[in-house]
Amino acid sequence: MRYALISDIHGNLEALEAVLKCLASEDIDEYICAGDIVGYGANPRECIEAVRSIDPKILVAGNHEWGVLGLLDIDYFSENAAAAIIWAKGVLERGELEYLKSFKLSASLEDFTVVHGSLEEPARFNYVLDGNDARRTIELLKTPLCFVGHTHIPGIFYYDEDRVVCSEGPALNVDRSRKYVINIGSVGQPRDGDRRAGFAIYDTGSGRVEIRRIDYNFERAQYKILGSGLPQRLAERLAEGR
Ligand code: ZN
Repeated sequence: MRYALISDIHGNLEALEAVLKCLASEDIDEYICAGDIVGYGANPRECIEAVRSIDPKILVAGNHEWGVLGLLDIDYFSENAAAAIIWAKGVLERGELEYLKSFKLSASLEDFTVVHGSLEEPARFNYVLDGNDARRTIELLKTPLCFVGHTHIPGIFYYDEDRVVCSEGPALNVDRSRKYVINIGSVGQPRDGDRRAGFAIYDTGSGRVEIRRIDYNFERAQYKILGSGLPQRLAERLAEGR
């Protein structure tokens, strides 16, 4: 099976369409979405529709889904994130909110688990930023692989002797005797200094995970953010990949 993994789309339709177009020529069997379809960007409705159209086998909730659903207090979010959540609440329709409500917090399939933040109390949406954070998820992990998003920074965490280290990849040949936490990066708002849209492909047959990046029309996404009354900073950061 070839799985395409996407996360942290954040209402960025230009980035999502570029990623889906690229994946259309990749012989993908199933799609997996690790959450945060909405928030920050100007097209939450269109992004929900596009995700629905690929019918992901696993869809887990991100903190921004929980924000618009009122399941996470608005004080949890930064000022700009909160502004975007309040804005998204105003544009999403009932059927779209019902769809977001159907997402679980974590799910497993074959030899992998998917969670937005970390396995340590998934409803708290903790960040896996370093080896220590990743170690706690590895200890709770019941499958060899765990795919996460949330930080918008791609990376592969695994034990090297007695400590957990992080590799930037971009590819991994899975050693089945190990466990890995793999951050698949962000489609719509990368934060590692590279503004290109991020996603991953996992081929269970060859045991290979690839973290990919592709260019998209970020200027158009910026233009829409500025035209919709969302905070200006949310447009600026797309150019910086921060
Ligand atoms: Zn996010």
